[in-house]
Amino acid sequence: MFEKLLIANRGEIALRILRACREMGIKTVAVYSTADKDLKHVRLADESVCIGPAPSPESYLNIPALISAAEVTDAVAIHPGYGFLAENADFAERVEESGFTFVGPTPEVIRTMGDKVEAIKAMVATGVPCVPGSGGPLGSNDAANLDIAKKIGYPVIIKASGGGGGRGMRVVHTEAALLNSIAMTKSEAGAAFNNDEVYMEKFLEEPRHVEIQVLSDKHGNAIHLAERDCSMQRRHQKVIEEAPAPGITAEQRAAIGKRCADACVEMGYHGAGTFEFLYEKGEFFFIEMNTRVQVEHPVSEMITGVDIIKEQILIAAGEPLSYKQEDIKVNGHSIECRINAEDPDKFIPSPGTITNYHPPGGLGVRMDTHIYNNYFVPPNYDSMIGKLIVHADTREMAIQRMRCALGEIVIEGIKTNIPLQREILLDGEFSRGGTNIHYLEHMLEKKKQTGDS
Ligand code: ADP
Repeated sequence: MFEKLLIANRGEIALRILRACREMGIKTVAVYSTADKDLKHVRLADESVCIGPAPSPESYLNIPALISAAEVTDAVAIHPGYGFLAENADFAERVEESGFTFVGPTPEVIRTMGDKVEAIKAMVATGVPCVPGSGGPLGSNDAANLDIAKKIGYPVIIKASGGGGGRGMRVVHTEAALLNSIAMTKSEAGAAFNNDEVYMEKFLEEPRHVEIQVLSDKHGNAIHLAERDCSMQRRHQKVIEEAPAPGITAEQRAAIGKRCADACVEMGYHGAGTFEFLYEKGEFFFIEMNTRVQVEHPVSEMITGVDIIKEQILIAAGEPLSYKQEDIKVNGHSIECRINAEDPDKFIPSPGTITNYHPPGGLGVRMDTHIYNNYFVPPNYDSMIGKLIVHADTREMAIQRMRCALGEIVIEGIKTNIPLQREILLDGEFSRGGTNIHYLEHMLEKKKQTGDS
């Protein structure tokens, strides 16, 4: 096993990785920007290295600084967490070239999955179901493009191969608007992603977001840890996640899960990963693969009992998976609410000092966060300051448990989205389950109208 691991991240995920390392007897190196010297995991780590000033391009995205930090501390492995450099193939390459182990898949696989057209090609090749579409980049032949759209059927969506974070997409409802939309998406993509390649897909009107968690080792073994439903989104950002997804049968789970696990073996995928799907009318349509651990991984841990971070580290160290598919049982239901330092109505970030913090507790309640009393939330990074996770025997009981936990939690001194989370947990449609990806936006729109009148 690794003697020492460097955590190339901050906040709750850095603490989560540190906890896994401690349990495994692995020494840890924390890296931090000058704005983050008081982070909890920095205090708890065996060693810590300041890698630069607050702006992330000069610290958490600063590859030479991270590599030197690993060198001076004799770390042998680097865990990228999520965000920052977690899906940067060049970083993974530099880590490996410098003689360290990258906790994640190979740079080649990261690169393929980072290009949406290449990712779709890889999925088609391994039999993972994709959204009907052009199957490749659109050329400059107008008649051919009109023909593709006609075959797919309107509405269609034009997407940039290099897009991400919900950017570089345009929905087209009529033939008259198609060519102009392609041209516009192309020129925007060229400017934003330095890659003007675009492709076309059927636009699904009321899908849910359902994703499959996988683990795949370096010995040709891969398993899935069932699915998560992350349909509760605002501006393509997930707000609440749950596992399992309401209404998905054990047969559906086994079938799609096996497809994903098999694809991992075929691709030579190493580590934890997520296949994201749009789910509509009983069918799964692949949209992208995340080649890292995700924010919402705890809900899968709660229902399966698998420590995903620990497995990631074991896989990176060359160990075979600790589980076989038949060992994985879906047990009860888990829900996660993201806690953001932001105005619950206007969604403006709310950095500042937390003057009072009381975490919720009790059976089946888990709070993954780096905050504490008098912690200063810096304005420089993502506004997510923690994740409240519950687990119970049934979805109804999990909802009830989450309502209680949200009633108990106190975070004062800054604004948070806790009031919004409480509203969602009391919403009738959410309680019924299976709402689509537009539901939260509609709910917020309705709230705004009633508030305005
Ligand atoms: P990104 O990498 O920018 O997150 P994705 O391909 O994952 O891009 O798509 C982001 C979101 O855009 C999806 O979660 C979904 O809400 C919407 N979307 C993408 N493709 C389609 C589609 N074919 N039909 C309907 N909505 C889509």
